Amino acid sequence: MTRKLYIVPIAHPRQENLELLRRTLSEIFTIPAEFLSLKLNIDSVYNIRRNQYHATEILAMLLRKMPADADRIIGVTNLDLYIPILTFVFGEAQLKGRAAVVSCFRLRNEFYGLPANNDLLAERFAKEAVHELGHTFGLIHCENPTCVMHASTYAEEIDLKNYQFCPNCRAVVNSKIR
Ligand SMILES: [Zn+2]
Ligand SMILES: [Zn+2]
Repeated sequence: MTRKLYIVPIAHPRQENLELLRRTLSEIFTIPAEFLSLKLNIDSVYNIRRNQYHATEILAMLLRKMPADADRIIGVTNLDLYIPILTFVFGEAQLKGRAAVVSCFRLRNEFYGLPANNDLLAERFAKEAVHELGHTFGLIHCENPTCVMHASTYAEEIDLKNYQFCPNCRAVVNSKIR
């Protein structure tokens, strides 16, 4: 049975920003990547005080509904995500696990008062999805500023890195892909 990478849109209205992400994930992790629609009770992870959604709880929901033939599952969302110790996160993943989630909420130029750029948004979204899934392969943050596993705090920092892993990070991923 060929295992799949499932991409679950969560409150994400713009499908056109997701095709680059799907293709990039499939190529980089050499796995069939498909969209999957799941009914998730997203209101249950909304924090009214922060006006944000708890990323770790979303991971737990995805894991509970993960299909039997799934190798990995990643939620893609337009919701503003947080974990309790941080103001916000672009995404979160289980280190050496199977689930990840990534948000484009803070990847938009408009969020920073700049003109909208849909192509740039799609690129940032795809890179952050590769980054979060990289964590599920046990990768931690990489010092190499062009490696996709380099940590980004600002959206512009994402533009400086590639879709690809540096040779060191790639070797770790390769050792875990059958
Ligand atoms: Zn990271
Ligand atoms: Zn690296």
